[in-house]
Amino acid sequence: MTNADLSEAPRHRGIFCNRTLNLRSVRAIGYDMDYTLVDYRVDAFEQMVYAQARERLVAEAWPMDGLAFDGRMVTRGLVIDTELGNLVKANRFGFVKRAMHGTRMLGFAEQRKAYSQVLVDLNDPRWVFLNTLFSLSEGCLYAQAVDLLDGGALPRPFEYASLYRHIRTRVDAQHLEGHLKATIAADPDRFVVQDPEAALALLDQKIAGKKLLLITNSEWAFTAKMMAHAYDRHLPADMTWRDLFEAVVVSARKPAFFTESGPFFEVVDETGLLRPLVGPMRPGGLYLGGSAGQIERDFGISGDEILYVGDHMFGDVHVSKRTLSWRTALVLRELEAEVEALEAYRAIDRQLMRLMADKSSLEACLSRTRLALQRLHAGYGPAPETDGPALEAQVQDLRGQLLALDAEIAPLAQAGTELTNPRWGLLTRAGNDKSHLTRQIERYADIYTSRVSNFLQATPYAYFRSPRGHLPHDPGGTHA
Ligand code: IMP
Ligand code: MG
Repeated sequence: MTNADLSEAPRHRGIFCNRTLNLRSVRAIGYDMDYTLVDYRVDAFEQMVYAQARERLVAEAWPMDGLAFDGRMVTRGLVIDTELGNLVKANRFGFVKRAMHGTRMLGFAEQRKAYSQVLVDLNDPRWVFLNTLFSLSEGCLYAQAVDLLDGGALPRPFEYASLYRHIRTRVDAQHLEGHLKATIAADPDRFVVQDPEAALALLDQKIAGKKLLLITNSEWAFTAKMMAHAYDRHLPADMTWRDLFEAVVVSARKPAFFTESGPFFEVVDETGLLRPLVGPMRPGGLYLGGSAGQIERDFGISGDEILYVGDHMFGDVHVSKRTLSWRTALVLRELEAEVEALEAYRAIDRQLMRLMADKSSLEACLSRTRLALQRLHAGYGPAPETDGPALEAQVQDLRGQLLALDAEIAPLAQAGTELTNPRWGLLTRAGNDKSHLTRQIERYADIYTSRVSNFLQATPYAYFRSPRGHLPHDPGGTHA
């Protein structure tokens, strides 16, 4: 390896920081597996889940002809409104900024009618947040099912909420039954994205003295197959993926793993034979179930000495932060495309900012002129320097200029709302504001990045510093 390999990462492969984190004081790093240590081709994986759930619905006499998985129809971070049969994108305050009923995007008036008085509150079971890339098949299938329900095409009646539960159980079943995992395990090259640098990044961390833990909800046989496929070929010849980890925990049942104190079992052999764990966990051990609390006790590490890295906004990041104050990293695969799209849009964005600044000063000028006219007509306040007709002409002129400016602004702003996905735009933005997903990332993920191998360039000695927060009244900010 040359020093050049350790040069600064390109921006889209960076690690971004919400709360300052010194990796040197982190003693243990826990990793989730699916979509974290092992990256899947989303379209292939979700297409499989979709196809198998669809087959099941066909067997229940659902008319699924012509329906197929569309990976662009929904994105992570959207919220299913199970009351109205919609998918919505909310901003950081919970205001709905875009909505889709079934597979049809709602127009502005319809959206306003449905949501002007409603805030998305994820504590209310009405709303289902799409937490991970595993949610895409479910979101797509639900949207299509709403169309079928509205068209009177389903073999039995549903409400939008019971329809959601029906789809949920059908998708859930694919993950729990063996067929999906067996298909993937039989042909992993079709589903797994190889990332040789991830193995080296983990090896760097291990040799730097971090205790590495693998904590996955996947079962043992699938974990063994996927980890061997993704890691063994990229490690030194005398190592396998198992040698990287101080402990491996499968079928961890996150989020309950973080909140409850379930027992650990030892996985005794390659077939997955179990026996209850007696005494503390041992280095190099292979376990099933258990709890985060016992990991802390048995390895003698406290919450803020553990960094947990996962892709599930709730099950990996939110709960481990809220319950145990673990340090947290969110893996957001889509971030690479997002950062690249923002870079490509930068010149247009600057132009847009200039036009918006012009618009603001024209609007301010218009407001002052209108007020001068109002005072003139009502006969109060200081006398204006200009007479009434001149003020009227000025108002007309300013209105004309604003209309022309709006015509220039509209296509540029529209392009900004369609970056990466024409229906939903960027994952991290909602309109001009931060998205609901971004709000959760800010609250619960100390750092976030597109993939585990980005730790390679960062090194195990990195010091991630949070940016200074900006407030509307900071110098240089805009004001009315
Ligand atoms: P992890 O990300 O390594 O914790 O593993 C995620 C596991 O959850 C994988 O085995 C997925 O197949 C499984 N999974 C994802 N979505 C669902 C679901 O909707 N129901 C049940 N299991 C799921
Ligand atoms: Mg995962």
